[in-house]
Amino acid sequence: MREYGSKVLDEPQTQGRAKPETHKQKEYVSALLADVKAKNPAEPEFHQAVQEVAESVGLVLEKHPEYRRAKIFERIVEPERVIMFRVSWMDDQGEVRINRGFRIQMNGAIGPYKGGLRFHPSVNLGILKFLAFEQTFKNALTTLPMGGAKGGSDFDPKGKSDNEVMRFCQSFMTELYRHIGPDTDVPAGDIGVGGREIGYLFGQYRKLRNEFTGVLTGKGLNWGGSLIRTEATGFGCVYFAAEMLATRGQTLEGKNCLVSGSGNAAQFTVEKLLDLGAKVVTLSDSTGFIHDEAGIDRTKMEFVLDLKNVRRGRIQEYADRFKGSHFTPADPRLDHNPLWNIKADCAFPSATQNEINGKDAANLLRNGIKVVSEAANMPTMLDGVHQFVDAGILYAPGKAANAGGVATSGLEMSQNSMRYAWTREEVDQRLRIIMKSIHKACTETADRFGCPGNYVNGANIAGFLKIADSMMDQGLV
Ligand code: NAP
Repeated sequence: MREYGSKVLDEPQTQGRAKPETHKQKEYVSALLADVKAKNPAEPEFHQAVQEVAESVGLVLEKHPEYRRAKIFERIVEPERVIMFRVSWMDDQGEVRINRGFRIQMNGAIGPYKGGLRFHPSVNLGILKFLAFEQTFKNALTTLPMGGAKGGSDFDPKGKSDNEVMRFCQSFMTELYRHIGPDTDVPAGDIGVGGREIGYLFGQYRKLRNEFTGVLTGKGLNWGGSLIRTEATGFGCVYFAAEMLATRGQTLEGKNCLVSGSGNAAQFTVEKLLDLGAKVVTLSDSTGFIHDEAGIDRTKMEFVLDLKNVRRGRIQEYADRFKGSHFTPADPRLDHNPLWNIKADCAFPSATQNEINGKDAANLLRNGIKVVSEAANMPTMLDGVHQFVDAGILYAPGKAANAGGVATSGLEMSQNSMRYAWTREEVDQRLRIIMKSIHKACTETADRFGCPGNYVNGANIAGFLKIADSMMDQGLV
């Protein structure tokens, strides 16, 4: 038994953050970070993502000076290609609108670039670089041949008509089509890019190229999409949590769970948690969160799916509709998010980056959290990551836990190449196998590098080794 604050954790822990960092390791990480910050000013999310990985990779570089000599990590932090472009379109009032489009092709050493498109007003170069960087490691973990990329725009689909979204997507693709292709770069969805947007983007690509190919994933089932792709990020994240719990002889059955967000990742996290007998008590969006102590059951989820996917409404309507549940509006003046201060066994952050700060992490731990499995990308700030790892809870970083989404995109690419479609059961089975093998890669790598149970080091190092070896094989390009 081990104490964390006033709580006693139910498993003896041996892991800690890693073996104590050596002086050389620390020096290397700080010099590299200083360089990345100088070269990429005003990109805090990118700096944060690089720091997290560099802290793990330091362990490898000490044992493998050949990677250091070849400056593999220094090359990985430099995108292979960055494309920025103007996206002009006309709104329903006849007003000209201008947005900025991006595609970051981060690393193509292990396969065609692959990663989602995000449409959100907060999108900027630094956020997409952090996402493309994370994606590179995540894709390496999936066992499938996919390089890392990310793209998107500061366009906000919220409050826009379907026609406006269509005109924007067509204009966006009118530039992007030159840079992508089924063997070059295969984008998918992310925040603000779901089935509707992928449809408009695919239609425009097909018209411009006069080709029907698997150039995008997340497509509709009638035109090349894969069964389970919509569900895959959430399902995979829960499969990963189940794998982690199994290492301690436990299951998700009867566990109290916090889920944030209410979009694609959150919706199917909840669905799979319900399948496995867990109880989910929260959901959120950018306006605030709902807490339903009785649990969000399937009937209530049907309401959420209609609210979010059809009516595109706000989560507060959940509390208006279901007695006993409460809505708490987001309060930017607070130094923490009260959602993460609700007592629970498991947390599934599924909204966006940096939604769990140090104080939130401390609150979760004080309330006895046992599992944190990240459906979102980098939802936990570094201070929180360190607290989770030091406390020895089952903490899965996004690049491992949410890799099911891109893995199933990889399965969609395979089906497109074969011009064939697997059944729902076949795809789900492959997804489970992939999540199991990612879990195995994380735990075995963490063991090998002297930090058993540390999924952060396990994921970062396993991903790094695959990319690094491929880059070494391919020479200085
Ligand atoms: P989505 O369907 O657009 O849903 C995003 C959800 O997060 C919405 O509820 C949204 O609320 C909330 N959200 C977004 N930005 C927010 C902010 N700044 N503050 C508070 N809430 C915010 O997107 P998604 O696909 O579920 O993506 C969610 C997370 O999962 C992202 O980190 C994404 O990168 C990650 N992810 C997604 C996939 C995938 O296959 N979709 C795969 C891997 C990882 P509003 O509607 O109010 O904005």
